[in-house]
Amino acid sequence: FFIAVEGGDGAGKSTQAEALADWIRSKGHEVVLTREPGATAVGKRLRSILLDVASQGLSHRTEALLYAADRAEHVDTVVRPALERGAVVISDRYIDSSVAYQGAGRDLSATEIARISRWATGGLVPHLTVLLDVDPATARERFTEAPDRLESEPAEFHARVRAGFLALAAADPARYLVVDAGQEPEAVTTVVRHRLDRMLPL
Ligand code: C5P
Repeated sequence: FFIAVEGGDGAGKSTQAEALADWIRSKGHEVVLTREPGATAVGKRLRSILLDVASQGLSHRTEALLYAADRAEHVDTVVRPALERGAVVISDRYIDSSVAYQGAGRDLSATEIARISRWATGGLVPHLTVLLDVDPATARERFTEAPDRLESEPAEFHARVRAGFLALAAADPARYLVVDAGQEPEAVTTVVRHRLDRMLPL
């Protein structure tokens, strides 16, 4: 069973992915909690290019392809093997992040980004995508650590990313759970558990 956790910067993806992993493990299932970009050895190098080098400027197409390369390695070496042995995989970001950031956020076509991702993953689609939706201004207030690259993007960029995620969810409502991530983290976790209770044999 494959779950993707998506949303903008500061939506609480890592916190929710961890809470979800703990809960599913407590039911006796093997859980692989993983993330993009940077879950593999190659992915870590790509992540550092994407987050450090790119701050000095990187062609948007190059950026899209590097995210796709990270994802191809991640799916082939982590996600598929785990799914094949029956584990529940929770990925903090997946294809939708590329469609939202590189497609809606930048000037690239969302359809083309989705196509590249489909090829990179051999068509692997999550059973459920949890979209943590939050107003970028609220999300920004949550940051206490040093801001990374995209926190220096203008507000309009984050607004386009948010709209990009919501458009994906609206196009395929059965496969999405959109949660108001402006709520307290515990309230968000409760909503997600409730949905999964109905989907998983837990
Ligand atoms: O989720 P995480 O904080 O690890 O992401 C690192 C950075 O990469 C964030 O600033 C995020 O906005 C950015 N990112 C991106 N395009 C993606 C995935 C992440 O620009 N497809």
